[in-house]
Amino acid sequence: MEGKRDIKSMNEEELKAFLEEMGQPKFRAGQVFSWLQKGVKTFGEMTNIPSNLREKLVETCYISHAAIEKKLISAYDSTVKYLFSFADGETVESVVMKYHHGYTICVSTQAGCKMNCDFCATGKGGFRRDLTASEILSQIQTAQEDNGIRISNVVLMGMGEPMDNYENVIRFLELVSCEKGLNIGMRHISLSTCGIVPKIYDLANKKLQLTLSVSLHAPNDGIRNRTMPVNKRYPIDELLKACRYYAKETGRRISFEYAMIDGVNDSDECARELAGKIKGMLAHVNLIPVNSVSGSNYRKSRSDRLRSFIAILEKAGITATVRRTLGSDINASCGQLRSSAAKEKAAKGERQDEIILTK
Ligand code: SAH
Repeated sequence: MEGKRDIKSMNEEELKAFLEEMGQPKFRAGQVFSWLQKGVKTFGEMTNIPSNLREKLVETCYISHAAIEKKLISAYDSTVKYLFSFADGETVESVVMKYHHGYTICVSTQAGCKMNCDFCATGKGGFRRDLTASEILSQIQTAQEDNGIRISNVVLMGMGEPMDNYENVIRFLELVSCEKGLNIGMRHISLSTCGIVPKIYDLANKKLQLTLSVSLHAPNDGIRNRTMPVNKRYPIDELLKACRYYAKETGRRISFEYAMIDGVNDSDECARELAGKIKGMLAHVNLIPVNSVSGSNYRKSRSDRLRSFIAILEKAGITATVRRTLGSDINASCGQLRSSAAKEKAAKGERQDEIILTK
């Protein structure tokens, strides 16, 4: 990898320029691009490419790949969770979920995360590095190949903060939605952010038909400062202003994620405050009973709290749903598998590839 180019992160235009420099005819770029987007792992698999060019490519470039380090299959709902590793040994998690409309994958955008939200397992493990566009794409390619399926929807809600790896994420979006590639349209993609305000404006100005999910989790700065350090930099009113701008520029509804934490952010008072803050906005609220993670004392809200919270939002004319929990037996929420795998590996000095839990 040292000194070699990440060829799968190149778009077709860049590949054209790169191959032309090597004295190749114009049509070559389209061929090579198609192979890469199909998910080949070696240049040798590019059967319609002359062998002298394949050799040159081996010398100058590498093809990144997400290798399956560990795989968990839920016995309840066939949700599949992966721990993928990249060439340098960094690992990230992805989850494949089956819905009536097809398969959705939740991909990671960074190994670890800098945001350090109090309730999140990923933050507890610290930050390792940004993923490249090709590494984000490779998670989908490996998951499709391993399950023999076509994935129709992508959510950038795995490990990491997509807006903190903005350039690579934008490039990934370009690749994944490309007709010659996986051809997953922007309307089938959601990007989730903890609220990096300037990047929300940048994304809005691109006017992509992407769904923006915003991890709100609190109705005011007091609670949000305590649970999400990013709020100290970008307070809630600035964040909501950016969300309104996004909705206006793109015509797309904002999806607010709200993890319900017992006794922290789940009171009727909180619901009323939230309703007041987002009233009149093109938005939807997704309530998620918080997952307890080790290293934090947060507990799920009681179900009567959820009902009451929803009722208050709905009365204010705000649509709200409770997110279905998939894969609860396999620790499907992000960060949990990676941290347990690291401990396991250290304890046993070995790897475990596939675990199928039985009912
Ligand atoms: N960094 C991005 C995307 C990754 S996290 C973001 O913050 O949006 C994906 C979602 O899971 C976010 O809404 C995050 O706040 C939420 N989340 C993290 N830990 C959680 C937990 N323990 N319980 C419920 N939701 C959690």
